[in-house]
Amino acid sequence: MGETVHSPLVTYVSMLSLLTLCPPFVILLWYTMVHADGSISQTWDYLKQHMLQGFINIWPRPTATAWKIIACYAAFEAALQLLLPGKRVEGPVSPAGNRPVYKANGVAAYIVTLLTYLGLWWFGIFNPSVVYDHLGEIFSALIFGSFVFCVFLYLKGHIAPSSTDSGSSGNLIIDFYWGMELYPRIGKHFDIKVFTNCRFGMMSWAVLAVTYCIKQYEENGTVADSMLVNTTLMLVYVTKFFWWEAGYFNTMDIAHDRAGFYICWGCLVWVPSIYTSPGMYLVNHPINLGTQLALYILVAGILCIYINYDCDMQRQEFRRTNGKCFVWGKAPSKIVASYTTSSGETKTSLLLTSGWWGLSRHFHYVPEILAAFFWTVPALFDHFLPYFYVIFLTILLFDRAKRDDDRCRSKYGKYWKLYCEKVPYRIIPGIY
Ligand code: NDP
Repeated sequence: MGETVHSPLVTYVSMLSLLTLCPPFVILLWYTMVHADGSISQTWDYLKQHMLQGFINIWPRPTATAWKIIACYAAFEAALQLLLPGKRVEGPVSPAGNRPVYKANGVAAYIVTLLTYLGLWWFGIFNPSVVYDHLGEIFSALIFGSFVFCVFLYLKGHIAPSSTDSGSSGNLIIDFYWGMELYPRIGKHFDIKVFTNCRFGMMSWAVLAVTYCIKQYEENGTVADSMLVNTTLMLVYVTKFFWWEAGYFNTMDIAHDRAGFYICWGCLVWVPSIYTSPGMYLVNHPINLGTQLALYILVAGILCIYINYDCDMQRQEFRRTNGKCFVWGKAPSKIVASYTTSSGETKTSLLLTSGWWGLSRHFHYVPEILAAFFWTVPALFDHFLPYFYVIFLTILLFDRAKRDDDRCRSKYGKYWKLYCEKVPYRIIPGIY
């Protein structure tokens, strides 16, 4: 089994917090956005007055409509993942020395999904407002359904692992929380993490962004420029994600984090609810920014998304060409780092030390956080809650940078030390 990412104590505390705090938080966030004007103090006053019973009353029970919406969406996405054509791409060599193979059909699935969704609305077959009107029930169903799904992943890891990149830490809680299998599959071709992370989680972000926009249109007969900026930026971001999906197969989520509660529950519940929350807020707040301000925010947001994309592409191209490419118009500077796989083989990787990757070791997180700020700022500053995602993302990425540094240090040893000497800052050049 690979490395334990955090100590058992941190794992227990974070698992207990995730299990006990995240589900109620998802419901409270939805309630506040949809029924309490986005005002935390309004929800707080309500809870102070009605206590636990008040909270139980606002927690929507999963209804048949909610389950049907989730089932149709999940089945549709699974079918697209399996059936749409795509180039064969190889993932990075795993710790056990395997090289998983994927079908890169993310862009096709993304286009088919959005066209189908808009088509259903346009031809009056299904109104996306229904999704917004049942959002609380949908989140409630996702909370319970995803938990059961994670139990399935745990059992599958024990009974029928798909590859040698699997195993138990000997601790039930850690196995459930961090996962057992690196790339579990159903049959040979259906990759579960591609489904949970990309086709369910990231796709739901785009689908819900469109839903919020349509809901505001259906309510008011028009869409405010704040909503247009928010929806456009979130769609540009998700489009970028699917465009680069084959690159995503090389990132920590896919190549290092095992399929467990942490990543899968997060993608199935947290992404649709929390990541989309600035748009959820705007449905009932049709703020008018004016063309000039709207355009400034839009351009700044697109620029940040582009820089984030360019950072990821720079690393990907550098690795793909084995360092035989140009980085910012010059031959890249690099470190040839060797490491030993868990099966005892010695391999080498190249570490890029110029371009974006020479500014800091995780510079790409800076534009990622700024882009999230720009699609939130159309909500202006009347309420704090729309900014929750930006703050959460900042904490997540600072923690992730540390996790990644720790992992790379233990993988590359002296070569990573050399990289840290050459590129001393972790995220923000000159500061951190
Ligand atoms: P990275 O794409 O940064 O991948 C990290 C891995 O890259 C390391 O583990 C190491 O892997 C390799 N690496 C590290 N340094 C170098 C280098 N100098 N040269 C070459 N390879 C290197 O990780 P993320 O998964 O964190 O980020 C991917 C994208 O996803 C980013 O755009 C990020 O902003 C985004 N993201 C968004 C999140 C969200 O919630 N919105 C959450 C997380 C990420 P190896 O073992 O192969 O050497």
